[in-house]
Amino acid sequence: MKLLNVNKPAGVLCKLNYLGESTGDFKIPSTKFQKKNNLCQLVKFVSNQNVYMTSILKSKDMDKNMTSWVKVPNDSDFSIHNLPFGIFSVDKGNKKIGIAIGNQIVDLFAIADQGYFNDLKVDKDVFATNYLNDFINLGKSVTNAIRLKVQEMLSDKNSSLLDYTKVLVAQSAAQMHLPVQIGDYTDFYSSIEHATNVGKMFRNPENALLPNWKHLPVGYHGRSSSIIVSGQNVYRPKGQVLPPDANSPIFQVSSKVDFELEMGFIIGKNTQLGESVKTSDAEDYIFGKVLFNDWSARDIQKWEYVPLGPFLGKSFASSISPWIVTLEALAPFKIQGPEQDPKVLPYLSYDGLKNYDIHLEVGLKPKHGEENRISKTNFKYMYWNMAQQLAHHSSNGCNMKVGDLLASGTISGKNVNSYGSMLELAWGGKKPITLSNGEKRKFIEDFDTVIMRGYCKKGSIRVGFGEVRAQVLPALN
Ligand code: MN
Repeated sequence: MKLLNVNKPAGVLCKLNYLGESTGDFKIPSTKFQKKNNLCQLVKFVSNQNVYMTSILKSKDMDKNMTSWVKVPNDSDFSIHNLPFGIFSVDKGNKKIGIAIGNQIVDLFAIADQGYFNDLKVDKDVFATNYLNDFINLGKSVTNAIRLKVQEMLSDKNSSLLDYTKVLVAQSAAQMHLPVQIGDYTDFYSSIEHATNVGKMFRNPENALLPNWKHLPVGYHGRSSSIIVSGQNVYRPKGQVLPPDANSPIFQVSSKVDFELEMGFIIGKNTQLGESVKTSDAEDYIFGKVLFNDWSARDIQKWEYVPLGPFLGKSFASSISPWIVTLEALAPFKIQGPEQDPKVLPYLSYDGLKNYDIHLEVGLKPKHGEENRISKTNFKYMYWNMAQQLAHHSSNGCNMKVGDLLASGTISGKNVNSYGSMLELAWGGKKPITLSNGEKRKFIEDFDTVIMRGYCKKGSIRVGFGEVRAQVLPALN
């Protein structure tokens, strides 16, 4: 039996929030208490006065010695500590929910069909589905329990799953699909380094940040119909652009196609119209995270964006990674965010660790040549965190729905090798990048492939996102 450490004196009356369900008043019996059963992970305590996270409690996720009987390569993003959810199919068969482990996929429908989830009272049909939405909508009490049950089975060397080989599918034999049906997509602009770089280029180096930027997480409503899964190609867009020194625009194929290195989070719990999410509750409403490439046409964007913001320069395509890494898998990688000065308004203030230490990389592979790593940065630099983005988005009473996607905005670091777009890396075309095959790039050219990767690492434990990859094809006529 494992013990959980709780940063609260014995005898204090609390409401126990257990896997998203409140248990009502609860008296802490001692500074240590026992886990109720192997599947449960204590999430947080809610006291009468304030809400706070306990230190991430000692759960199976933190057991560094945990290994799986499924072979997991050392550099795999999909360790026993991760277990992200996705939608897969084999040989053009029906789509199902899977969990990634090493180079394999655990077929959750096959596990449910064998009765392994019977004690969790989950209908097996929820795993035979085109999207994760209905599964996510069951709530964290169910989705966390499923994930921890799978973790237990995959780490148990005597698991009866070992005798049931149909439960594992090689990732190389499977097709991955868009993991969720995305209702609404919102894009923020939350990296101070990115916003400063763009402000310097597009406006005025002296006042690169607009007056609102440090007071609210700036965002816009994007378009969800053109969000595609990794591996699907992108057509170069056409649109209105204003040529240099011209007085009137022309309609042409974009010559400034760019990527934006971003991460997105998937809403895991509905809110009602009029309701606002507090920063302290935000994690209850976030199912997990994906890598996100917010493709952009800078020439179209530059001409169209005044005064209502991005439109056709953005909506032609955005790419996401197929595996959703849960917030629970990311919890050990929480980290302090940058100091926010001036102080934010009370509804945006927060306690505890809300940023995440996620290493990010961008690769560019030209048609004739190898992949070049052109950027390396980290999600931890984000000025505005997800809890603040969600609190701000819902502060006016706008409702959130399961499957909505909220993206971070371009993630740039402080130095020139850590910028998250070609616009910044090649500084608006003034400093072209030289690739290993000798070619130069100001923006993305036809048949270039852009690959983004992300992972967390603590000692030998690795929790990653895999990749989001897409090739740019010439514009359709
Ligand atoms: Mn963006």
